[in-house]
Amino acid sequence: MLHRVAQQGETNAGKISPVHLRNCLGYLVDHDYTFISLEKLILALKHNQKLPPKSVVFTMDDGYVDQAEIASPIFLEYNCPLTFFIITGMLDQTIWPWDAKISWIIESSESPSLENCATVKKLNLKLDRNISKRILRRSIQNALKKIDTKYIPEILRKLSIDAGVTIPDQPPLAYQPMTWETARQLEDQGIHFAPHSVNHNILSRLGRETMEKEIRDAWQSINHELKNPVNVFCYPNGKLVDFGEREIEVIKNAGYLGAVSTVPGVARCNNRSDDQIYSLPRLALPNNMTDFIQYCSWIESAKEQLTRYSSLK
Ligand SMILES: [Zn+2]
Repeated sequence: MLHRVAQQGETNAGKISPVHLRNCLGYLVDHDYTFISLEKLILALKHNQKLPPKSVVFTMDDGYVDQAEIASPIFLEYNCPLTFFIITGMLDQTIWPWDAKISWIIESSESPSLENCATVKKLNLKLDRNISKRILRRSIQNALKKIDTKYIPEILRKLSIDAGVTIPDQPPLAYQPMTWETARQLEDQGIHFAPHSVNHNILSRLGRETMEKEIRDAWQSINHELKNPVNVFCYPNGKLVDFGEREIEVIKNAGYLGAVSTVPGVARCNNRSDDQIYSLPRLALPNNMTDFIQYCSWIESAKEQLTRYSSLK
């Protein structure tokens, strides 16, 4: 699973550099891994079919310009199938996601002690003094992930006032989404597209009707814009608390083939279950080679099995 990708020469610990991405894909080619598409994996799981050993699936979430212009061509260059999950409202240019707005507010604020402002204090975060902007952003995002989505716009408005900035209606340059036209061009070149909700709101925090709308409208919109989207859903945020049986049922009834989470883990062909197909685990692409090689080995899988075994005891 990939998220944002760095521009050439940009140093940002949260973003994957194009050089590193090439090194990872090159490593997999040199060590006889087989790239398969997400759809192929899900169909194999559904029909109990065997996959080649050392199969790897790549996905990328959200739909920003860097992902389209920098990361996608690298996957094409390596002939590696990529399923690109997009926030459809972002490509429709009707929203920019609330979590991106938090990042932007904190990055653009010149306030020396935003962690002490009234809005942050109200969130009751346990913050150390002089924390970095990165930790402050993460703490606020995590706090807002736990509350009812309808309160978020007002909290963002207050936070932006405390931060001394005005949230622009249209996303600033660093948060520009790709266009549908670019998506169509990438689709023609072989990139697969699939929906990642309309607004990037956490489904388990939404009322039933709004939650259903997020799931159905995202598919409708991507299906309207693109020729051949893949009907696999990607849960916003994707942790186990962010979706549950209620969401899985709606996704199945809406005709989706499967769904992916952000719960870390590997898909198992010998353990076929509907639950697995509608909450497929993924591993975030690490930003260093040592971790990447460990993820590709069976160490991660063995660790997972051990945890499962000890929880059964
Ligand atoms: Zn996302």
